[in-house]
Amino acid sequence: MRAPTLILPDRSRAIAADLRAALGAGKVKDDFPTKTAYAVDASIYRMEPKAVVLAESEDDIAATVTYAVSRGIPLTPRAAGTNLTGSAVGSGIILDVSRMNRLLEVNRDERWARVQPGIVLAELNKQLARQGLLFGPDPSSGDMCKLGGMLANNSSGPHTLRYGSVKDNVHRLRVCLESGAWLEARSYGLGDPVLEGLLASTPSLRQLVTLTQSHADLIAAKRPTVSKNSCGYNLFGLADGLAQGQFDLPKLFVGSEGTLGVVSEATLRLVEKPKATLTALIHFRHLEDVGAAVPALLALEPSALEVMDANTLDLIGRAKHGIPADAAATLLAELDADSVDVDLREQAERMAAVCRPFRLAADLTLAFDPEQREQLWKARKALYPTLYRFDPRKKPINFVDDVVVPADRISELIRYLEEFFAGQQVPVAIFGHIGNGNAHIVPLLDVNDSNDFENMVQGYHEIHDAVLNRFGGSICGEHGDGRIRAEYVRKMFGDGLYNLFVQVKKSFDPSGVLNPGIKISEASFTEHIDYTRLSKSCATCAKCNAVCPVYDVFQSEDMSSRGWFEIVTSKDYSYLNSKRVVESCLNCKSCRTACPAGIDVSDLILKKRAEHPNRLAGWIFRWQAKGEPFGALLRLLGKTQPLWDRPLVRQILEWVSTPVMKRLAPTAKLPHDLLLPRLASRHLRDRHADLIPPAGAKPSGGVAYFHGCAANYFDDGVGDAVIAVLRKHGVDPALPPQRCSGTPVQTYGHQDLAREGARFNLASFASYDTVVTGCASCTLMLKDYPALFDEGEERRQAEGLAKKVVHIAEFVSRSSAHPAMAAAETGTTRVTYHSSCHLRAAGVTKEPRKILSALPGVQYAEMPDADRCAGGAGTFLVKDYDTSQKIFERKARAIDQVGADVVATSCPACMIQLKHGLKGKADVKHVAQLLQESYEAADGQKATPR
Ligand SMILES: Cc1cc2nc3c(=O)[nH]c(=O)nc-3n(C[C@H](O)[C@H](O)[C@H](O)COP(=O)(O)OP(=O)(O)OC[C@H]3O[C@@H](n4cnc5c(N)ncnc54)[C@H](O)[C@@H]3O)c2cc1C
Ligand code: SF4
Ligand code: SF4
Repeated sequence: MRAPTLILPDRSRAIAADLRAALGAGKVKDDFPTKTAYAVDASIYRMEPKAVVLAESEDDIAATVTYAVSRGIPLTPRAAGTNLTGSAVGSGIILDVSRMNRLLEVNRDERWARVQPGIVLAELNKQLARQGLLFGPDPSSGDMCKLGGMLANNSSGPHTLRYGSVKDNVHRLRVCLESGAWLEARSYGLGDPVLEGLLASTPSLRQLVTLTQSHADLIAAKRPTVSKNSCGYNLFGLADGLAQGQFDLPKLFVGSEGTLGVVSEATLRLVEKPKATLTALIHFRHLEDVGAAVPALLALEPSALEVMDANTLDLIGRAKHGIPADAAATLLAELDADSVDVDLREQAERMAAVCRPFRLAADLTLAFDPEQREQLWKARKALYPTLYRFDPRKKPINFVDDVVVPADRISELIRYLEEFFAGQQVPVAIFGHIGNGNAHIVPLLDVNDSNDFENMVQGYHEIHDAVLNRFGGSICGEHGDGRIRAEYVRKMFGDGLYNLFVQVKKSFDPSGVLNPGIKISEASFTEHIDYTRLSKSCATCAKCNAVCPVYDVFQSEDMSSRGWFEIVTSKDYSYLNSKRVVESCLNCKSCRTACPAGIDVSDLILKKRAEHPNRLAGWIFRWQAKGEPFGALLRLLGKTQPLWDRPLVRQILEWVSTPVMKRLAPTAKLPHDLLLPRLASRHLRDRHADLIPPAGAKPSGGVAYFHGCAANYFDDGVGDAVIAVLRKHGVDPALPPQRCSGTPVQTYGHQDLAREGARFNLASFASYDTVVTGCASCTLMLKDYPALFDEGEERRQAEGLAKKVVHIAEFVSRSSAHPAMAAAETGTTRVTYHSSCHLRAAGVTKEPRKILSALPGVQYAEMPDADRCAGGAGTFLVKDYDTSQKIFERKARAIDQVGADVVATSCPACMIQLKHGLKGKADVKHVAQLLQESYEAADGQKATPR
């Protein structure tokens, strides 16, 4: 089936204009950043849309469908854009359902939930976990993929063995048909009067019944015999239902990839969350043994059984993941306990007994607690984007990525594939759900090289042929057909059944506008390949979107980390055509921490900002770098704060300062009700002048404290606490001269100024052995100084400093001193931890939590989303106050949920944001302050013996 002939308006911008008139301006976009960001998903393809609709309601969906059909414009539904097949990119309108992301209803007793299609799987399961429930299908992309995409692709994952695919877990869907009408797609009993009415009013449904019943034999003959299949339309499930007197409509729509209708709501079947889980890594020395071990392991009824072949282990780095050099394949097995009575350690023994007769490369690695288990899964879940690090030219290309063979023939398949790719001299990663016989095959190719391109085309045909004809398998287990496998659907099922699929498509989508080119299409899989992007470093996996606070708020790809990578690396990028997005990044670095391919999107953005540095900010930072009289002004402001920090004066200040603030950013303001930190009338350096080395002194060794700007200027007790804690650990820190570490300077595009400040700090701190920090951003910036300099002496000095930087939480955790501690308050204080983004990016995550958990009188409680940005981010709070507050809403909910008395953190900007947002509902303290309090409490107890 060909894509529809486009009846596009003369000017493509008219599409967006029409849609804006129908839906409202805020829901329709068609500028350069939007079209660039939406031109990609996680596949190898690129298609630039004409307009993007951000649907917020069923009315928006229906109006968009009706408009697209009336104009013959291709319409592509989209959720998170993580599919690997090109099914969420299109040349017409992209209908993004991400803003429809609520969990609408949960029925605990009957174990079902009603959800919208924009909810992220991980978010859904987090909410369900509170009631001990779980939605079973679990693609490895679960942190970022959304229900709309999972439903449309019939996704599944490692735990399919236990929970099945999406198609096995859906009760009901609400679908907008091509006519704009809404269909309740559930299982209807034949003869049900409601169904009779539906069949009378919806001809496509009647045709579907007739077609399925009259071709029942053909459908049965062509049914895939392997355990998983997402290729073609699921007429097999429909035929099964009809044979039992049921018209099971979800079976048709699940897996239809947006080609038959748009889903606005789903009722999902839920399961009880397992009470406990065991994860095991098993390293085999011989591939054949894997095949032999699988049936024995399956007998233990594992919930997951995953394989990674030898090449995959080489590519991800064996040493890094503790994988033995002689392992030919590694299995990841998981066993669930449904009740507290099940003894998982005994099960582990049984698993070990099953495996030991085989030639293992090492004993089994077993993990019971969630953190260790997560560690074992980490490499597997990030596998595909991690492969992007392998070679600057050769990228993992998904084109035979999802085959299924009988589970007992998986070793034979892997051997065949290894030989095939060795023949082509192409590196390949083979991994997947071995328990289901579902293998993911990802060769590394430079598709811009004609030899590699030919290898790809040859591999596409030969491997798919082998899977069908030699192994009797399926070309698609869970990823969907999309653009990549559409060409092969006919070969998989033969002309007869393929023609039925075409009839289904035509009866549900006579105008052909619903996701054309997907699933039912004769186009070659090589059409629309994005050759330019495939030479870049980003895997477009969207892992970064899952943690990007801006994406969290806007739910729009042009306002997301992945989108920004596309935008700033586009050949058509200019600061002018993309200023609104380039200035929206918080520089929180969450994307960098999450990216398995090692990309720092924020750094790319900072480089673009450096081409247009902000003049006002530059002026302020230059002035600050001089020390005085900037310091004197702040002291004066500190002394007079009680006068100017009053509601009425602040209102006037807001009004007066707004025109000046606009020069920082159009959205910038100093809101009158923003709870400002108290400015110190005597700065930290004034109060601890005895720690400042005399001018000209050349100290050698020892500990220096890089306090940064906030601890010096603010009267919040943080700097004093860090010094007091260090003293308790036997250290009198030096306070050498220092300038701003550079984070805010860089954020406003002043790379040169940041470098200048770095040179000053490098010289000032060069002679110390240890440089302690208290501020999260200073910690990261000092560790990142090498990136500011080219290869050479300065880079070496920066690398030297980076090695010496230690956050106060790390210092205390490593210290051999154990000062006495006591409860600072009577009764128990419930403390939670907000993990500042920059401290996470600096790799400091466990130490603060360990310290807090050990404080006497403290009940430590981990909050949900502890690792998510709070929206403060340096001066972002004033640069874009409204967005900053929207980002904070999620953090506020998390703190509320955990019911903390105190929120501990390590970043001055986070502290301002938390104090402002919580408005006294919980106290906000630096980790060092809590430590200091408990040391002081112990001192107090000694001073007043009973
Ligand atoms: C690193 C990585 C690992 C992955 N691992 C797995 C895995 O283990 N198992 C697996 O199955 N998949 C996996 N995938 C593929 C992908 O994540 C899944 O297919 C996922 O379910 C797609 O969801 P999405 O929200 O990104 O959908 P999108 O990519 O946005 O869309 C996918 C399809 O759904 C359609 N669609 C979206 N919303 C709607 C709607 N409301 N109505 C109708 N149609 C709609 C789109 O048109 C498109 O055809 C992986 C991908 C990556 C990048
Ligand atoms: S930047 Fe990294 S995490 Fe983000 S899409 Fe690209 S590869 Fe994935
Ligand atoms: S630094 Fe933060 S705001 Fe900027 S792209 Fe990365 S995650 Fe998003």
